[in-house]
Amino acid sequence: MDAIVLGRKDVGEYNQWVVCLSQKYGKQQYLMRGVKKITSKNAAHIEPCSFIDATVVSGKDLDILTTSYLQDSFTLIQQDYVKRLMADTILRIVDLLTISGEDGQVFDVLLSGLYSLSTDSVVSAVRWIDLFMLQLCEAIGIVPVLDRCCVCGKSRREMNTPVLSALHGGVVCRGCVGGVGKSYAPKERLYLLKNEADFHAFMHHHVNFHLPQDIFDWGDIEKWLK
Ligand SMILES: [Zn+2]
Repeated sequence: MDAIVLGRKDVGEYNQWVVCLSQKYGKQQYLMRGVKKITSKNAAHIEPCSFIDATVVSGKDLDILTTSYLQDSFTLIQQDYVKRLMADTILRIVDLLTISGEDGQVFDVLLSGLYSLSTDSVVSAVRWIDLFMLQLCEAIGIVPVLDRCCVCGKSRREMNTPVLSALHGGVVCRGCVGGVGKSYAPKERLYLLKNEADFHAFMHHHVNFHLPQDIFDWGDIEKWLK
């Protein structure tokens, strides 16, 4: 089974839970026995961000990861401090945004995201993650509408003063904003479309708007890098 390791945590002295995202089973947690013994063959490559081929045996109450082969460790990401932080960030986001057993679309987005990250020359880490988030939103069914007004359907070119609205789900003409219920809903916030910072603020708000729990602001990655 092809899987990407999202994270792992200790269970007792020698065992670990490994959180994997696979195309077939979505996000799952597997027990890995004896992983912390130095003789464990599995331990070395079951790292977050590893793309592995795993064999899982279903136990009575839990699934056990028995063997795994490393398919890709994304060396170019591991060797680059900025990219490594970006990869950690998208793994954290994917972990937060997926629930157990969700379908494989997210897996495809994450795997192609990691492959692109290893080869892309990144100008802005935030911008890169924003664009990754667009694809992730599409995979989980909350993609914002960006090419036309969500209310009147006018194309972006025909729109006067387009703004971004999480409540409406994407781009809206300034004049169309009041069209839904006139007064703003409590969570409504409008973003102009002047620059990348506006787009980032919208994307972060959009994701928070659609999820039951708040997600950290990946725009802070610039601060973490300092
Ligand atoms: Zn409109």
